[in-house]
Amino acid sequence: MDRNVFLYERASACIPGGVNSPVRAFRAVGGTPRFIARAQGSALWDANGQRYIDYIGAWGPMILGHSHPAVVEAVERALRDGFAFGAPTERETELAEFLVAAVPSMEMVRLVNSGTEAAMSAIRLARGFTQRNLLVKFEGCYHGHCDPLLVHAGSGLSTLGHPSSAGVPAEVAGQTIVLRYNDVAGLERAFAEHGPAIAALIVEPICGNMNFVRASVSFLRQCRALCTRHGAVFILDEVMTGFRVAWGGAQSLYAREIPGFAPDLTLLGKVIGGGMPLAAFGGRREIMRCLSPLGSVYQAGTLSGNPVATACGLATLREVAHEGFHDQLSQTTRTLLAGLRAAAERHGVPFCADSEGGMMGWFLLPTLPHDYPAVMQSSGDLFARFFHGLLDRGIYTAPALFEAGFVSAAHSAQDVADTIRAADEVFALLR
Ligand SMILES: *Cc1c(COP(=O)(O)O)cnc(C)c1O
Repeated sequence: MDRNVFLYERASACIPGGVNSPVRAFRAVGGTPRFIARAQGSALWDANGQRYIDYIGAWGPMILGHSHPAVVEAVERALRDGFAFGAPTERETELAEFLVAAVPSMEMVRLVNSGTEAAMSAIRLARGFTQRNLLVKFEGCYHGHCDPLLVHAGSGLSTLGHPSSAGVPAEVAGQTIVLRYNDVAGLERAFAEHGPAIAALIVEPICGNMNFVRASVSFLRQCRALCTRHGAVFILDEVMTGFRVAWGGAQSLYAREIPGFAPDLTLLGKVIGGGMPLAAFGGRREIMRCLSPLGSVYQAGTLSGNPVATACGLATLREVAHEGFHDQLSQTTRTLLAGLRAAAERHGVPFCADSEGGMMGWFLLPTLPHDYPAVMQSSGDLFARFFHGLLDRGIYTAPALFEAGFVSAAHSAQDVADTIRAADEVFALLR
């Protein structure tokens, strides 16, 4: 009996769609989600005992691989001292100090439980600080599921958004301007029209929620400049890229190209929790001081800064802080992508890929897309066949073509070679 099928049916009877987050349900590719029983290093085992090389890494957090011994030890030690106190702890400050040291644009930081919560809180803070309402976001970027961000572009010339989910009031969506990613002219037009009413602009520096699309340097430079000129808060969503693409996040990479580049607020999540529910938002002191209890913008959380989660995050970040960590990780990712590129070429399958540190994306397209409409040119059918071909061969990748992939420090040369060999077989079938 296939235990994945059994467990999926059992889950579907009491959990909507059988999953607690929709992308896990395999809707885009068909088939039955794998129910994971355990994980170690770069490998996952499903309910049938089948082993997979894992390129999802819990959607980003597991940068060291699963169950890293130093992290397990730190979590075990923290657990014995209690699970939650609802009172301040020294470890929260340790983590906060660690984050502000690593990300110099963050002078102060507050810990929360998810990326969604970080984005929601940062938006309220930006609105409170500026006393304005409008938000600017970009098509294809994901910042969690709070109402003002579940919005797609309006029709015709209107850039004011419409709800992309039932349950989001049109009045809320109408406060969000949705623009095309990497479109500098569109960005300039929106600020020319709405500038004095814009509270904040939120953007992913490398968008991992339309697979993998980099912001151009000129685009991010103009995001920063227009926010400065119009007094809007520039929010960089590094929930995925923070500590994943480089120490100090993607902003440290763009700061090399754009002198003085720094967001007003940064969102972090995923890697900083090492697999536990932990995220953060932080930035300029002047803005952060508007948060309660100092200021008038309310924000709170019963489990925020949880002692077990912070132990997990700190132990993870201490490993990531080792000299050369991201160089090594980048090398593994690049070797993998070079091998996949060569295999696709051998079989005449269109393929292109890009990566930064341990974050990567591939498209079954001849050239890399730079915005959402270009990503949409991908064939969902071809993607599904590639995905299932790999899965059948023990390679676990994202079950939707809009998701980035992740390599961990635990991925070995053997893992990479096994993955390339499996992909070579699948490309032969796709030709
Ligand atoms: C994952 C993600 C979020 C949401 O984080 P959750 O912890 O899933 O709520 C927000 N922004 C970006 C860029 C993300 O990748």
